[in-house]
Amino acid sequence: MTESLQIIELGNPILQQRSHPVVDVRSDRVQKLIADLMLTVRNANGVGIAAPQVAQPDRLFIVASRPTPRYPNAPEMEPTAIINPRFLAHSDEVVKDWEGCLSVPGIRGLVPRYQAIEVEYTGQNGKLYRQEMNGFVARIFQHELDHLDGIVFLARVESVQDLMSEKEYQERIVQANERFSSKE
Ligand code: ZN
Repeated sequence: MTESLQIIELGNPILQQRSHPVVDVRSDRVQKLIADLMLTVRNANGVGIAAPQVAQPDRLFIVASRPTPRYPNAPEMEPTAIINPRFLAHSDEVVKDWEGCLSVPGIRGLVPRYQAIEVEYTGQNGKLYRQEMNGFVARIFQHELDHLDGIVFLARVESVQDLMSEKEYQERIVQANERFSSKE
């Protein structure tokens, strides 16, 4: 039965470990983990979640962009399982934007990421995919891939001035964006 899993938080040493490649994508254990992660990220209003965040050291994550209270402007897409991912290429252009993390509640940070990436990964069906991504979805992919290497987004924030509490973020950034879009 599919279940919503407990998310571990900053300070848990598992978040600092490098995860292991998934050997048998079609195994019952991996297929159940994928289904459980998809339910967990949905219940948490997240747009992505990596296996280490539920204490499973597998190179596997979910990208599930959709508008939520935490990310009102996120594009809508089908939740996608990304297994054993790797970069093939990336843009020279790097952009800074706000990120949060289900394992770091209450904190937002401005994180530099490649604007566009080309990636290869195995899908839930065991097939190999090659895909180009850009903007917010590319950002989620880079954030989640970092989790597989034991890196939390705070490590990529360049200055303490680029950090904000969730409350200030909602008041300053989300509401400012809403004021801006209501003028259009
Ligand atoms: Zn995260």
